[in-house]
Amino acid sequence: MKFCTKCVMPETKPGLEFDENGVCDACNSQVSKDQNIDWQERKKKFLELIKKYKVHPDYDCIIGVSGGKDSTYQVVKILELGLNPLCVCFEPTIPTEIGRKNLDNINNLGVDLIHIKRNPIVYKKLAKEAIKRTGDNEWQNHLGIFTTVPKMAINFKIPLIIWAENSQMEYGGPASSKTKSILDRKWLEEFGGLLGSSVSDMLGVDGLTKRDLSLYTYPDDEEIKEVGVTGLFLGYYFKWDLRKILEVSKQNGFVAQDRAVETTYENFENLDCYSNHVHDYLKYLKYGFGRASDNASLDVRLGYISREEAVRLVNRYDGIPPKKAIKEYLKYTGFSQGEFEKIVNSYINKNIFEKDKNNSFLRDIDGSLIRKKECLVR
Ligand SMILES: [Zn+2]
Repeated sequence: MKFCTKCVMPETKPGLEFDENGVCDACNSQVSKDQNIDWQERKKKFLELIKKYKVHPDYDCIIGVSGGKDSTYQVVKILELGLNPLCVCFEPTIPTEIGRKNLDNINNLGVDLIHIKRNPIVYKKLAKEAIKRTGDNEWQNHLGIFTTVPKMAINFKIPLIIWAENSQMEYGGPASSKTKSILDRKWLEEFGGLLGSSVSDMLGVDGLTKRDLSLYTYPDDEEIKEVGVTGLFLGYYFKWDLRKILEVSKQNGFVAQDRAVETTYENFENLDCYSNHVHDYLKYLKYGFGRASDNASLDVRLGYISREEAVRLVNRYDGIPPKKAIKEYLKYTGFSQGEFEKIVNSYINKNIFEKDKNNSFLRDIDGSLIRKKECLVR
């Protein structure tokens, strides 16, 4: 397994590309963010661009928010620019106490916030089917966020949607995805992480009807056109530095956990939902890297830690099953431990993890899978 020579991202990350020096495109785009992009110019462009979207009497834009540091920062930034946003939160799969508090905090920054309490029966059916089909337990949530926000934009006739960062630009992805400042249906289908499954594939699953799925269906092109809905990535116009974002969010009331989250060494990631940590764990089984690799790579890129330190952190934190999150996930879905393991094990990447002579995967005493020597980060 090949790893980026600058950060610790492996080649197994879908869409990640490497140059002739073995440097990943996320690292290369960081260099261009640091050196080649004129951020003052981008800010000017942004302020110019949004003028034409100020058509609604009350709201200047819509922001999809969770309870996270990024959404806190987004709202702070938008308010700072003198815009009045309407915030929309699509309820997480298994909300946490701290996530609720942080969502309330966003509300208390002085914005109107619509909390979409999606139909829990439909949602759970989707959640249980999606993990089986795609190996992603958060598939339905990603989909829900990307469809309900434009729906709200149409309903309220607010044409401008402000998304956070372009994840391909920040974390690497095909060249075509990175120059994009706009999120539309095409982006969602190509880069939105739907893993080849679309909402229409869920029709009939456990009796799900077209009406059940309407919330998860992207609006029609005509509806989009009528309101002129456009989604912009804030990270395209303003430099997205995780540590600074965290600092600004904390100054504005965002609260991190008093201990690290289960899947990494940080205490501020994905605090709003238990299911997210299961998502990180599944990612590790499929691709051989987890949340610690993401965090450490970003920290290296931003110059906060050395590559050596990143290697140490990855080896220490990646791959340990998040016990508390899995417990909450089983309670939520009603899957037995055995059912869950059966689904999850079918997604374990055989090229990455060691097996014993009985063809079972080898595990450490803490339950983490053991990587083949050639797949260890080094
Ligand atoms: Zn890299």
